[in-house]
Amino acid sequence: MMINFSEGISLIDAHAHLEELNDLSGALSEAKSSGVKGIVAVGMDLDSNRRTLEITRTNRGFVFPAIGYHPWEIKENEVEENLSFIKDHMQECIALGEIGLDYKVHVKKDLQWKVFGEILDLAVEYDKPVILHCRFSHKRTYEMVVERAIKRAVFHWYSGPLDLLDNILESGFFISATPALAYSPFHQQAIKKAPLERILLETDTPVIYQGKESRPKGVMISLKEVARLKDLDSLSVAKQTTTNATQFFQIG
Ligand SMILES: [Zn+2]
Repeated sequence: MMINFSEGISLIDAHAHLEELNDLSGALSEAKSSGVKGIVAVGMDLDSNRRTLEITRTNRGFVFPAIGYHPWEIKENEVEENLSFIKDHMQECIALGEIGLDYKVHVKKDLQWKVFGEILDLAVEYDKPVILHCRFSHKRTYEMVVERAIKRAVFHWYSGPLDLLDNILESGFFISATPALAYSPFHQQAIKKAPLERILLETDTPVIYQGKESRPKGVMISLKEVARLKDLDSLSVAKQTTTNATQFFQIG
């Protein structure tokens, strides 16, 4: 689809695994020329956090770093060094993510809870927003965030139950919209229900949607799908969601 960016649309991709892209510089320059004015790069583990910080050092003001420990990546004997890396780099990141729980992976739940809980404690201590992965674990993820009185949280690619979405919204939290809106009924119903003021746009680059690997430029697909589902024009959706992202991450 074509969106005319000369209308002054500017977007923020609130969740991208940039360090996994083969053609990073190409992806960044095509994003810039497509109206993307900022990208939040998320880390998964020690190596990915290091590379994420490296990318942001050479792209300041355009790529903003989040560091984390993804539940898929948790290994008992690596927990300590992962957590201490995160602690040592709290001043360099704008958010903690990707973090959370995943009940489909073969990582013991109590180990996931421990790691997630410790990173949430850091978020409280340093007043950082959190970017949450919550596959088949929506309720427990929400409860752990609320228990610690986290102020800023985004439930990434939310496709969970709608009654829990009510709680998420009442707590002042956000959900994010991905290009999966083009085909996922669970994701669609959540985005339909959440007010625009609580939605961030993202790509989860380089996730493959319908056979195509995503890049940050694809945040325009998320934009178009949110506009379509909510029967709003793209420009006003872009304006509001970009305002949401700049306030949520406290980026200029
Ligand atoms: Zn992700």
